Amino acid sequence: MNFETNAVHAGHLEDLNAGSVTNPIYLSTTFERDKDGNIAPKGYIYSRLANPNRSGLEAKLTALEKGADAMAFSSGMAAAMALCHSIMEPGAHVIIPDDCYHGIAHLVKNMYTRWGITYSEVDMVNPVNVEKAITEKTKLILIETPSNPLLKIADIAEICAIAKKSNVLVACDNTWATPYIIQPLTMGADYSIHSSTKYFGGHSDVIGGCVIVRESNEASKKIREYQTIGGAVPSPFDCWLLDRSIATLPIRMDAQTKNAGVIADFLYGHPKIERVYYPGLTSHVNHQVAKKQMKEVYGGMLSVLVKGGRKEAMHVANSLSIFKHATSLGGVESLIEHRMSVEGDHPKSPDNLLRLSIGIEHIDDLLNDIKKALD
Ligand SMILES: *Cc1c(COP(=O)(O)O)cnc(C)c1O
Repeated sequence: MNFETNAVHAGHLEDLNAGSVTNPIYLSTTFERDKDGNIAPKGYIYSRLANPNRSGLEAKLTALEKGADAMAFSSGMAAAMALCHSIMEPGAHVIIPDDCYHGIAHLVKNMYTRWGITYSEVDMVNPVNVEKAITEKTKLILIETPSNPLLKIADIAEICAIAKKSNVLVACDNTWATPYIIQPLTMGADYSIHSSTKYFGGHSDVIGGCVIVRESNEASKKIREYQTIGGAVPSPFDCWLLDRSIATLPIRMDAQTKNAGVIADFLYGHPKIERVYYPGLTSHVNHQVAKKQMKEVYGGMLSVLVKGGRKEAMHVANSLSIFKHATSLGGVESLIEHRMSVEGDHPKSPDNLLRLSIGIEHIDDLLNDIKKALD
């Protein structure tokens, strides 16, 4: 089936009681055994281990990412942590992007030091930098493309080819692109991870995460073990919400991309704007790679540098009325955020950077809102 059809139908739960067209929600924490005390024929025992709504969601994610299996978690960070715990060993080395999502950077840089795990932060715009950073101890390369918040573009296929030569695993944080635009597992990545909170959820009302694996093997069994024994599992209702939201992912992504493209063009060269970061602009450093890799769908995220500093950027963010000044991204409503203020003790974003998550509102209303704020 094509992507759009899988987004609607993959993982559908057949309802033998009533034949309901939409998925029922199985809130039950426990499932009846057969007369001999064996596990019931459907294989469910206890909802931390597996639940029908979670299995349905995982089947949909597997189909959309063209993987072998998927594990859903209660947040994107729980998914990232389960992946790292499953493949890391004491003394291992990890390569992360210099523009990595700050939560994952925190995990790698602070929480694994007790196990002697080391890391390199690399600018992945040039794959040669990744090759240079590989050591005998390198276990994992984490790619994030487009990156957060500078929308750097890394060539996934190139980096995977480099990793293969040294037997290094590759995980792609595919939160921003989503499998509608990029399917990293088909480009050689071993894992695709997500914060489902963002485009999968799409309505800013559910926190979730997932790992999709290219192959079922010892490592993927370990990730499943971290899910079921670690226990950071999503509720049946959260799985149901995600399943329902993913059905509209393709049309949301198209609408958000279309709006983002118009806004990027408007802001590019605007007298109050110093710089626009959007991979769809021909002026973007890696536009050619983006064009090939993203099949000319560049997504709904962009960042800008406002002329001036923190004060001017904050003024713009607070002068908008449709755009809400809030963190997170990927919802149907447009958001804007001064990134530096949320990056903790070691902020990396310039003080005049604003990140925009473009929603599905009418483009004229969004443009008028921006024009008014910049004036
Ligand atoms: C939000 C985000 C995460 C973390 O996900 P949570 O659902 O907030 O735990 C990881 N990676 C990227 C790229 C994100 O945007």
